[in-house]
Amino acid sequence: MVVRSARTPLVRASVSVVVAAGAVMGGFSVAHGQGNPTVSQGHIDAATAVAGTDLRGWLELCRPQPPVEQEHRPGMMSQKPNPLVVLLGDKMLAEPAKVFDNVYFLGTKFVSAWAVTTSEGIILIDALNNDEEAERVIAGGMRKLGLDPAQIKYLVISHAHGDHYGGAGHIVEKYHSRVLMSDIDWRELERPTLQFDNALWGRPPKRDLTAGDGHKLQLGDTTVELYVTPGHTPGTITTVFTAKDGSTSHRAMLWGGTAFNFGKVAPQMRSYVASADRMADLAAREKVDVIMSNHVRYDAGLERMAKLSARRQGEAHPYVIGSENVARAIKVIGECARGFLTSFDTELDAKK
Ligand SMILES: [Zn+2]
Repeated sequence: MVVRSARTPLVRASVSVVVAAGAVMGGFSVAHGQGNPTVSQGHIDAATAVAGTDLRGWLELCRPQPPVEQEHRPGMMSQKPNPLVVLLGDKMLAEPAKVFDNVYFLGTKFVSAWAVTTSEGIILIDALNNDEEAERVIAGGMRKLGLDPAQIKYLVISHAHGDHYGGAGHIVEKYHSRVLMSDIDWRELERPTLQFDNALWGRPPKRDLTAGDGHKLQLGDTTVELYVTPGHTPGTITTVFTAKDGSTSHRAMLWGGTAFNFGKVAPQMRSYVASADRMADLAAREKVDVIMSNHVRYDAGLERMAKLSARRQGEAHPYVIGSENVARAIKVIGECARGFLTSFDTELDAKK
């Protein structure tokens, strides 16, 4: 199989966007001295074919992750303004939106938090970069949409990266919600030195509730299923819940982790592939017909929400893509992961 740099087909888009995407969503550089990861072209081609035009957002995963500059490397707390951390700023503001009757988007043009409303309060998924974003984007967005942030009973943090936990401290202090994360990602945050940090992120929350794989988080009339899907981080949580649209109910999967920015770590990439395969099976079993991300770049959230706001009675819901297309989206994720994994393995074989 031909292995060459993925820069060839996919990196024509703006480099600055790639840089921002690469490091922030996860965070750390490729293994020292090894340059950009390469990716197997066969898998990229497969992913590209499967993605078509409607699921192109997920194909972003096939882009290589550029090395992070020294001051932003794991364990280095940068005090400088960091081009890799996409903070709020007016250009990054996005309108909050009621996406389903019980599911609300509260995010920026970079990173998303989602609220699921129930008969007994709100389950919030992710907390954005820092306290300011938690208050302005999450709490402010909720108020704009007629929700009361004091009703946030649970905050589920998808994974141990600052763009998802940074605002947690504020949510806990001001709205007294309980925080759930997987045990292994709690442990990531308890390490003396974080893998990846930035002064612009809020501090990690203190350990609270631990979500095991398959945990059913029950609040009032609603159950949110939490699955530990290692890959992007060792304990990334993918959530599955019911999304209501008028008289119809849908099953939604919120993919908990995204970019492959952890360097050439074959076991981690292998676990990413396994998680994608497992969630593909689960999505098929549960007839999941909505797939969402915590970054609008992947689920084309801004485009879908714009369509939603112009939707007329009787028209399809732009986030409801159907089980077959959810399967395609997860296939794209899996193929991109396989593409990187194949190249890691090929390099290892070459060294033997
Ligand atoms: Zn991340």
